[in-house]
Amino acid sequence: MIHHILPVGMLACNCSILGDEATREAIVIDPGDEIDRVRAILEQHRLQVKYIVATHAHIDHVGGIQKLQQATGAPVLMHAADLPLYQNLAVQAAWLGVEPPGAAQVKDFLKEGDMLQAGSLSLIVLSTPGHSPGSISLLLSGEGQKLFSGDTLFKGSIGRTDLWGGDYHQILTSIRNKLLPLMDETPVFPGHGPSTTLGEERESNPFLQGL
Ligand SMILES: [Zn+2]
Ligand SMILES: [Zn+2]
Repeated sequence: MIHHILPVGMLACNCSILGDEATREAIVIDPGDEIDRVRAILEQHRLQVKYIVATHAHIDHVGGIQKLQQATGAPVLMHAADLPLYQNLAVQAAWLGVEPPGAAQVKDFLKEGDMLQAGSLSLIVLSTPGHSPGSISLLLSGEGQKLFSGDTLFKGSIGRTDLWGGDYHQILTSIRNKLLPLMDETPVFPGHGPSTTLGEERESNPFLQGL
């Protein structure tokens, strides 16, 4: 399996490129910016993007989505509950003091239990609201299980809940019910910062103690 993590944009959002070596199909998670770098990786591995997925609609995760959609023709997918954020990228851009990026049409809305397949890769959608109403995590299933936790769970921390639609109680409930049941060995790739494992967070993340 091909897996590249590119920290992109001014907030260093981790964009993940997952590819199947046999079929050359790929899924791109959170193309927040720097689409030229994303495209270079795709070309280097001769990958065809099958899905573009946003873990949530904050600008640092979706800012490059229109460019990548236009370059690849792949469908854009996200959870419907983040549409208000997605439809207000101009407001989000103003907070950061940047030019508003374009927004590609959302092809399908993701919900709990949906499965996205690209060659032998399957990603299962976990609904994990709290950082935003439509925040999802993505679990790569089968051999080499991996969790893409968006801005829900970070190494040593959790996502902020003071932005529009955030809910502290809800993010803790999401983590307890959807993420903590996963195996300790599961590698976790957060939306920002270094990767970790579920066991490490279970043990040492101060926000998870007593959940
Ligand atoms: Zn966010
Ligand atoms: Zn973020």
